Amino acid sequence: MRKVDIGFVESCESWEVESRFFPSKIGGKPAWLDLKNLPEYSQIACDYCKNPCIFLCQIYAPYTEEEKAFHRTLFIFICRDPNCCKANENGNLKVFRSQLQRINEYYPPNPPEENENWRKDIQIEKWRKTCQVCGIVANSHCAKCKKTNYCCRAHQIIDWKSVHKKYCGSDENITSTDIVFPQFELVMEEENDDDGDDDDDDNDSEKEENEIVSNDNSEENCLKKSTYDKLVGSLQNVDDVDLDLMNFANNKEDTSFLKFKNRIQSNPDQVIRYDRGGSPLYISSLNHAQNIPKCEECNGDRQFEFQIMPQMLHHLKVEDSLTSLDWGIIAIFTCKRSCTPKAGYASEYIWKQDITEC
Ligand SMILES: [Zn+2]
Ligand SMILES: [Zn+2]
Ligand SMILES: [Zn+2]
Ligand SMILES: [Zn+2]
Repeated sequence: MRKVDIGFVESCESWEVESRFFPSKIGGKPAWLDLKNLPEYSQIACDYCKNPCIFLCQIYAPYTEEEKAFHRTLFIFICRDPNCCKANENGNLKVFRSQLQRINEYYPPNPPEENENWRKDIQIEKWRKTCQVCGIVANSHCAKCKKTNYCCRAHQIIDWKSVHKKYCGSDENITSTDIVFPQFELVMEEENDDDGDDDDDDNDSEKEENEIVSNDNSEENCLKKSTYDKLVGSLQNVDDVDLDLMNFANNKEDTSFLKFKNRIQSNPDQVIRYDRGGSPLYISSLNHAQNIPKCEECNGDRQFEFQIMPQMLHHLKVEDSLTSLDWGIIAIFTCKRSCTPKAGYASEYIWKQDITEC
C-alpha cells in the first residue's frame, strides 16, 4: 500500500502557528509564507458573490530535494456563503502555492526555536498591511484611527459593529472573530500499513465503479445532512449502515464510498490526506477529477497533492448543517515541478467532489 500522510486537528497557542514557525493549520488568519508578495484581493474573491474567500487551512509541504522550494506552503480559502457552495463546482474555493529558498529575506536559514519569544520581529506587519478581520491583503483602513486595515468594506463594517467602534484609537488590538474559522494546528502522521485494507491499484475498481448507474433520484431521498454527519452516521451506527448508504451514495451500493469508508476506519478523525503524486481517495463513484488544467505559471503538468476530508467541516463550527458549507472531498492539484511563482503566490487547482443525491 502507498504511504500516505494523514492530518489531524490539535489545539494550539496562537503563537505556535505564526509564519515564523512554518505551520500547518486550520482557521484563524493565514500565516503567510512570502510576507510581501501576497495574492491580490481579486484572486481571493469568490467567483460567484465576489466577496473575499476566507482562510480555511494551510499545509507546509516543502520539496526537500529542491532548493527553490526549501520552504513551501499551500493555502486554501473558501467562501463563507453557503449559497456559493454548489455541488461539484470549485468557484467558491481558492488555492495558492508559495515557496522560498533557504536563504531569503524573511526567515533565518536555520530552523526556528519552539519558543514564544523567538524572533517575534518576523511579522507580516513589517512588510504588508493585512485585513484586521480575515488576514488577506488590505486595501483600505479605518478613516478615524488610520491604524486598522481592511480588505473590503464588508469586513470593516463587521469589525466596526462588533468591536472596533469601542476600541478604535485605543492601543488594544481587539478584533472581530466572527468571520474566520476556529484556529487549530494540523499535525501530520504517516498512515499505518494496517490502517484499512485497501490494496488494489484502482484500475479494476474504476471499471466497476463506472458500471454503477443511478436513476432513482426521488426528492424523498434528499437527506438534508452535511456530508460529515452522514459519514459519521455510517461509521458509527452499524445497524443503520445499509440505510445510510442507500441514501448516501446514489441509492446504490457505491464501491468508491465503501473503499473510502474502509480506508478511513482506523483513523476516522483524519481531516487531510497527503499523497503527492498519488490519487485522491474518492468519496463517490461519480464525478472523479478529469481534465486538470496545466500550471498557469510554467504550462507544465499538475499532479494530485492532497485532499481535505469532510471531517474538517466538524471543526469549523458552521452551525446549521441544513444551510451551511459542505463538501465530499476537496482535492488539490499542484504544479508537478513546483515552479517558482512569478509573483509570490501561484494559483493552483481544486477539484471538489460532492455526493449528489438529488
Ligand atoms: Zn461567494
Ligand atoms: Zn478581510
Ligand atoms: Zn479605527
Ligand atoms: Zn508550474
